[in-house]
Amino acid sequence: MSEHNTVLQELGLNVELHDEVLKYVDRTFQQTVGAQQGRPEGISYFDHVLHESHGGRVAELVKQKKNGKKTVGTFCIYVPEELAMAANTVPVALCGGTQFSVPHAEKMFPRDICPLIKSTLGLAFSKTCPYGPLKSMAVGETTCDAKKKTWEILAGKVNFHVMELPQKKDPLDVELWRNAVREFQTKLEGLSGTRVDSAGLGEAIRVMNNKRRALQKLADLREASPPPVSGLDALVVMQAALSDEPVRFTAALNRLNAELVQRREDGFSPVANGAKRVMIAGCPSVMGNWKVHSLVEQSGAVIVHDESCTGSRYFEHLIDETATDLAGQVNAVADRYMKINCACFTPNKERIDSVVQKVKEYNVQGVVQYVLQTCHGYNIEAMRIEAALKAANVPSLKIVTDYSEEDAGQLRTRIEAFVEQLGGSAS
Ligand code: SF4
Ligand code: SF4
Repeated sequence: MSEHNTVLQELGLNVELHDEVLKYVDRTFQQTVGAQQGRPEGISYFDHVLHESHGGRVAELVKQKKNGKKTVGTFCIYVPEELAMAANTVPVALCGGTQFSVPHAEKMFPRDICPLIKSTLGLAFSKTCPYGPLKSMAVGETTCDAKKKTWEILAGKVNFHVMELPQKKDPLDVELWRNAVREFQTKLEGLSGTRVDSAGLGEAIRVMNNKRRALQKLADLREASPPPVSGLDALVVMQAALSDEPVRFTAALNRLNAELVQRREDGFSPVANGAKRVMIAGCPSVMGNWKVHSLVEQSGAVIVHDESCTGSRYFEHLIDETATDLAGQVNAVADRYMKINCACFTPNKERIDSVVQKVKEYNVQGVVQYVLQTCHGYNIEAMRIEAALKAANVPSLKIVTDYSEEDAGQLRTRIEAFVEQLGGSAS
């Protein structure tokens, strides 16, 4: 048995089934990401992060746990990673992106909930998610109904904390969220036995802001026409961002960005001149899910921006670093996260405006609204986004899909027809 499998067995995983999950995910990866030409050298680090997310990274966290450092599992980008870090814990995203585990969740949960939740639960129920037994606490939030009700069931089984995220952005809501963030801080301190102090939180804020700057730089590089990197590879970087150690991740991304700057100066791009520039807006595509990105780019278009939680929602807006006392820093953290525009907010004019703004910034010719099945927030909000884009003369296509390959042929036809009718070359 390999060294990694010994670690997984010690965590109580079903090692045989886990091997099958890895083979399934690797096959999907090779058919999508791995099938691309002209990938930058620096992307190999991020491929490696995805590959090791169920191997080397787990071993690293197990070792840290033995040395007293606890892991906190998260399901949403509203959970402030800085606080977890400042409390001497390691935040790790638990979202599942593979179809493999969905049937395992459907044995216990209703079929008509979103694939992201089903994939995540299926990995846990089938004992193939190493982070499940590894984490000392899981943190949910009150974003969508499916999540809220799922937390009630999980809370009876594991150490679970729910952050109350308001659904409006009025002053009272901002205060409610600041309280939720302070409560999270107290919870973390109780878990780790470490008091969050100003120096520690200040350092965590700097680390995460540096990570955000590097991700923003990658986004800026995609403004070039044609961009020096594919949208699929930019997605791989984003997926790695959710599981890797942040300082190491930022250093690797700065190296990749330098390579992409050089490519741009050399006039090299893996993308054909005149490829139609598409933006993805909507639900996240977490590790294991490369379906829609790969269909869009196989149709000859290039994705130049992601308005999603595996895109700009994760990294835009820096935390204000000017506060010098702990209370001010915690409020600065809360306020930055409150600026994220998830479809769970109402009336959410900020998101509608930001989608239109990003179309201009990234010279986008068409928007694919990506909605995971049964995600009512993004599905219904798609109507307002479509109307705002229409008013700005930007074509859009809404795709509602799950993680399975069953609708791939039909989606390919729709995407190809959409890309075909996009006007005027951007090059
Ligand atoms: S879409 Fe909304 S609920 Fe889902 S991860 Fe993003 S912010 Fe969280
Ligand atoms: S994709 Fe939509 S339904 Fe699924 S967890 Fe996120 S917000 Fe909820």
